[in-house]
Amino acid sequence: MKVKALMTLSVTAVSVTALVASGAESQGRTRSISQSSAAQAAQQHPQIVAEFGGEDTSARSAYVRSVGSRVTAQSNITGGGNAFRITTLNSPVMNAFAVPGGYLYVTRQLIGLMNDEAELASVLGHEAGHVAARHSKQRQRASILSQILSVGAAVLTGSSELGQLAGQVSQGLVLSYSRSQELEADDLGVRYIAAAGYDPLASAQFLGSLGAATSLEARASGRNDERSTPSWARTHPLSSERVTRATQKARATGRTTGLRNRDQFLAQIDGIMVDDDPRQGVIDGRTFRHPDLRLRFTVPDGYGMQNGTNALSIVGQGGQAQFTGSAFNGSMANYVAAAFQSVVGQQGRVNFSQPRTTTIGGIPAAYSTARVSTQSGEVDLTIVAYQWSANSAYHFALITPAGAGIGPFEAMVQSVGRLSAAEAAAIRPRVIDVVTVASGDTVQSLANRMAYDDLKLERFRVLNGLAANSSLSPGQKVKLVVYGTR
Ligand SMILES: [Zn+2]
Repeated sequence: MKVKALMTLSVTAVSVTALVASGAESQGRTRSISQSSAAQAAQQHPQIVAEFGGEDTSARSAYVRSVGSRVTAQSNITGGGNAFRITTLNSPVMNAFAVPGGYLYVTRQLIGLMNDEAELASVLGHEAGHVAARHSKQRQRASILSQILSVGAAVLTGSSELGQLAGQVSQGLVLSYSRSQELEADDLGVRYIAAAGYDPLASAQFLGSLGAATSLEARASGRNDERSTPSWARTHPLSSERVTRATQKARATGRTTGLRNRDQFLAQIDGIMVDDDPRQGVIDGRTFRHPDLRLRFTVPDGYGMQNGTNALSIVGQGGQAQFTGSAFNGSMANYVAAAFQSVVGQQGRVNFSQPRTTTIGGIPAAYSTARVSTQSGEVDLTIVAYQWSANSAYHFALITPAGAGIGPFEAMVQSVGRLSAAEAAAIRPRVIDVVTVASGDTVQSLANRMAYDDLKLERFRVLNGLAANSSLSPGQKVKLVVYGTR
């Protein structure tokens, strides 16, 4: 969540229905993106951008678009590269996805894992392949709370759907493709990048990097949130079959070389942020800290966090929560009432008791609980609001089983506190630093410069697509992750 972008929660549900699948894309036959799906994509676009940290509008974003249009021009979509809109998202989640209207999205976190332009082309080609092949998918996109309200009591009564919901929340977009759809998109991606002049082996190589990144994240210690687990691997299930097949398809193109544009690509991504953007707050294990708001809190053990532009979502077995802020006019009673209304929507009615006031960590606070009916039963909705300053306030909206009230979130609600200036200043972004290997540098010596406490060597290898026995040559360029400045 960004300081300046805090706004009232929206519970508007947006549903996207892909066109009916019509089997494999036939080569040579052109297809148009329908006006209705393009209009839907345009309408949905601002919400996707907000949920994934905002759009990266730097020169790098223009570069990503130019690579994308070069690749999508090879698809069978009428209008070629002009039919697609490609957006780079300022998100710490490793993901890329497409919507049927021809909008393709790739996160900065996924771009940071790539090693050359051909790999970037392969991801955009794969996503364009999903659009071109009209992969049918019923996707429900909604704000987190409306998702929670719609599944409501079923989730809170201990059904296994909760785990699924948590997974969906943390991957942001509720979808995954079938195995055959993945393979078809891979095939099309390989075909497009080869036709665009890129080395078709880049697809298999990037799938390999993604697999390595997935394994590494599983090993990284102290991470019970799923935000850095490569979401692309979950929404586009990875398998050794995909790597093998992408390799075979690359060979079948008859093209044994092609553009890699490694140096141009590395120059473009030098300085790109990885992991959390401190302007939106950072998640470290169970703790959320926001250096600009100067606040912190800790979520319950076993609960995951997902940070969006407007709100932070917290999901676990005993309930779900969202942390955000909105307009504050000096009255905490009014603030709490507005927070309830924002959850149930302007048309919704919610009966809550007069907010009670208290002090939490020296901060004036107010809270109230209401019983809310959902499609699948009743839940408790609690608002806990903090009067942060004379003209700012923040709050949790908590959803728990009916009768549970604040329930498992008691300690979290009590953990809200202020960061000192020194604590806030110590929070720095991590960025990619492209360096030239000097004589005497080794994989280990370079890995020692990685801005992580654990698994430095493994992280360096995965970041650079290096095998365990790879060595480096002086003059070669490699990526490091270092601390940047704010
Ligand atoms: Zn896919």
